Amino acid sequence: MLLTLRRLGADSLDLVLLTHPHLDHLGGLIQVVRTLPVRLYMDSAFPYPSPAYTDLLRALRDRGVPVRRAEAGRRIELGDGATLTLLAPPQPFLMHTRSDVNANSVVARLDWRQVSALLTGDAEPETEALLLRQGAPLAAGVLKVPHHGGRFSSTTAFLRAVRPQIALISVGAGNDYGHPTAEALARLEACGARIFRTDLHGTITVRSPDGTQWIASTASAEASRPEASRRAVPSPPSGPVLGSRRSEVFHRPDCPAVAKIHPTNLLRFNSRDQALARGRRPAADCHP
Ligand SMILES: [Zn+2]
Repeated sequence: MLLTLRRLGADSLDLVLLTHPHLDHLGGLIQVVRTLPVRLYMDSAFPYPSPAYTDLLRALRDRGVPVRRAEAGRRIELGDGATLTLLAPPQPFLMHTRSDVNANSVVARLDWRQVSALLTGDAEPETEALLLRQGAPLAAGVLKVPHHGGRFSSTTAFLRAVRPQIALISVGAGNDYGHPTAEALARLEACGARIFRTDLHGTITVRSPDGTQWIASTASAEASRPEASRRAVPSPPSGPVLGSRRSEVFHRPDCPAVAKIHPTNLLRFNSRDQALARGRRPAADCHP
């Protein structure tokens, strides 16, 4: 983690946000906190004591870093109009879930100009259901997939609300949990997201140079083919989209695939949302 931050040119951190105190999320942080100046640290404050978490809190105290509770409703200005809004954990905490420490992960949404990203930690289905019931703002071009692509999270209802174009899965190669699961991958594919996985792609970088679109690039591909690996993801179309009676997918009006649809089969939807509501999914060629 420290090496990656250094490579990105980060010599100090304005905010460190730990989603929940599991070792696979905080392990690398201890060294980061001991090495780089940190202005503010936040976590879910869900009680889950462990030697590693105690070490982390000690490192923060030694370095004089303010420690705050991350809870739903907080909004943090990041500069240049970028904001981080915390959507979870709720107060009181969710209880009696498969894993209460996961279910009370910090869920944060990043907004800058026209782009958004949703960071979900290891959120559980109960977390997703709560956010849906609350009508939380979930739509985001980038989704950090909950719980490493675990079987139960990334429910269809949640993905329909997020509608990610890019799905990021942070997961160790050959891990013992079988993450990411075929079930979660299938749901992510069905929602039309491009899936990036750290076990296959290494470090994944997502940037938005101008706030109109996200650009995802992968360390492995970038090293060998700098430009070709950078995939620009256009924003979703605001106008009508087109589909075919004979297919489940819909396209942007200017997609070459539209010309191949026989006129008698051509369907017009007033909007992307309408096409989704009629059970169509975005085509993989033009990503409408
Ligand atoms: Zn995890």
